[in-house]
Amino acid sequence: MNVLLPQPIESEPIALLERENCTIINAPDPKPETVLQLLKDAHGLILRTGITISRELIEKADDLLVISRTGGGLDNVDVAAASERGIIVTSNLGVNTISVAEHVLSMMLALSKRLPTMDHAMRSGNFGIRYQNLPRDICGKTIGLLGFGRIGCELGKICRRALDMQVIAYDPYLTDEKKAEYKLWVKFVGLEELLAHSEIISIHVPLTDQTRYLIDETEFSLMKPDAILINASRGGVVNESALAKALQNNQIAGAGLDVFSQEPVPADNPLLKLENVILTPHTAALTRECVTRMATEAAKCVLDVFAGREPQNVANPQVLESGRWKCLI
Ligand code: NAD
Repeated sequence: MNVLLPQPIESEPIALLERENCTIINAPDPKPETVLQLLKDAHGLILRTGITISRELIEKADDLLVISRTGGGLDNVDVAAASERGIIVTSNLGVNTISVAEHVLSMMLALSKRLPTMDHAMRSGNFGIRYQNLPRDICGKTIGLLGFGRIGCELGKICRRALDMQVIAYDPYLTDEKKAEYKLWVKFVGLEELLAHSEIISIHVPLTDQTRYLIDETEFSLMKPDAILINASRGGVVNESALAKALQNNQIAGAGLDVFSQEPVPADNPLLKLENVILTPHTAALTRECVTRMATEAAKCVLDVFAGREPQNVANPQVLESGRWKCLI
């Protein structure tokens, strides 16, 4: 069976696939036109975030059985098109939770303590910076979690336990039963209340039609002037031009961004020029440990499908009902 890799994966999952006699097809680059040619012979595809597997690509994938995402987001796969062709789509939930939570925590701390500004000033000979724009303590402040799934919950726990922060959250999809489990340390509130009361706002929702531009001009107008916004979910959840304006006008104090509406980020993106922003190139889950964990789990899903076993985290379970997959154990 042939497994197509639009982007390279680590040696551990490659060894796992090769032990099961899979042939690896490494794309020289993840451009759609390159991947299109290689898809024709692929039975499985392991997908990072560097390419969108669109309907057009899926229609050329005659023998494809499974698209296996290394991460949790499915916004770079046309799941509907895959389902129409009976292709199983799997994602990887949970393996990157702690890595993303740690990344957000470092952004929160670095922005509150003004580390980039201090470091830059020191190197320019400005030791006097220590008396200007004093950093902030985080202990006892409020973190507002937009989305209280795996990552939001993990980050909330760390903030509560390690930093004695107040944790508030907005997640309209969480059941009352689930909310009750967290009632000792999380207050669930409406979006407006969260925006108005948080010193740190961290976004952990998927990108959907409902969450696109969830944070726009109106939402920035509700935030405290010393609020810090962190987005390690998906770029499209925040209107970037409204964010740039809010930062330029000191409507909020800073932002930590790991994800962007367009990746790679074009050189004229105004956020690149702002001092009160920390930017990372979608690396929250790309720790050495996490990339191996994610690719290994994605490879296991491919092998499960090849071996006739139902893989975990199937995003389109309706395809399992079709004749093609009735054989799955
Ligand atoms: P999750 O599915 O466990 O949690 C998402 C939560 O968002 C759920 O509880 C859901 O109810 C909630 N939600 C959905 N729509 C909402 C809305 N309109 N308003 C408020 N809450 C809403 O996912 P997770 O593992 O916590 O990951 C969250 C997101 O982070 C993923 O969807 C992915 O896009 C992103 N992510 C980014 C990276 C990265 O490298 N930066 C890595 C992993 C995940």
